[in-house]
Amino acid sequence: MDWLVDHGEKPFKAQQLFAWLYKHRELEFGNMSNLSKATQAKLGESFEVGALALENKQVSSDGTIKYLFRTQDGLFLETVLMSQDYGYSICVTSQLGCNMGCTFCASGILKKQRDLSCGEIVAQLLQAQRDLDGEEKRISHIVVMGIGEPFDNYDNVMDFINIANDDHGFGIGARHITISTCGVVPSIKRFADEQSQVNLAISLHAPNDELRSQLMPINNRYPLKSLMDSLRYYLSKNNRRLTFEYILIENVNDSIEQANELADLIRDLNAYVNLIPYNPVDEKGYKQSSKSSQLAFYDRLKRRKIQCTLRREQGQDIDAACGQLRAKKMKGLDYAS
Ligand code: SF4
Repeated sequence: MDWLVDHGEKPFKAQQLFAWLYKHRELEFGNMSNLSKATQAKLGESFEVGALALENKQVSSDGTIKYLFRTQDGLFLETVLMSQDYGYSICVTSQLGCNMGCTFCASGILKKQRDLSCGEIVAQLLQAQRDLDGEEKRISHIVVMGIGEPFDNYDNVMDFINIANDDHGFGIGARHITISTCGVVPSIKRFADEQSQVNLAISLHAPNDELRSQLMPINNRYPLKSLMDSLRYYLSKNNRRLTFEYILIENVNDSIEQANELADLIRDLNAYVNLIPYNPVDEKGYKQSSKSSQLAFYDRLKRRKIQCTLRREQGQDIDAACGQLRAKKMKGLDYAS
């Protein structure tokens, strides 16, 4: 709005422009029919619509679509669109690479080059939704769970969420949006204070400090006690339920003893656990838990009265593990389209 007012326009035009960009998903200022020709020209001289170019798109046999986008400065990022029982869910990327160094993650192979701008995060949603517009289908859920740590790019991610949630934007309900963090404690407290309706998920992946520090270096900075304290603070300020993401890796974190330890760790929290069979990454050497271990882990949590789900795998035939497509592109390897 400030830009429009500074350039002699009425403030209400901001709302019209917002709707053209996000609701009608118009690419040309010249087609924004309720803006004057003079306003269209001013906008065209100063801005360009479309922060990302589509580099590659893979469609899995189960309907999952993986996009590889190129930024204007020639860098690559991934976005995954999943067809679910309830509609379409998009997983957006918040940073180019990631410095958190989780040992099981393809994204950590490539260190952070920079944060994504709000416009670049919005562009992922726009491009995927444009793909669905022809079929009159709609993205109804967002997870900020792609490459990067969203709370390491807090302001841009929050601006993105506001645009996605706004009725004049995409109008996606806050309760249909989830931010996933590896456990950046100060940002969890900041998020708690916002009292947002957006869901909070924690990538936990280990039930004790020793193992979690091996898998996720962030745990050295913010060990489980400080993480759990920040989550209790979040729950005290927000009448919401937390999600814990827990990938099941063979012989690493999938034993019955570890299921018991996990139940002990979180039993006093209003939370549920999303168990995810690990999607193997070539370079990492970890394997997916066997089906029997997955089910035994799930059953033990259930017996311990922990609410949990065992997620079905999606897009395994298209490099769906976080960061795989981008990692291949950056290394100059071929990928099938
Ligand atoms: S799991 Fe998430 S936080 Fe950890 S390295 Fe990968 S992208 Fe970063």
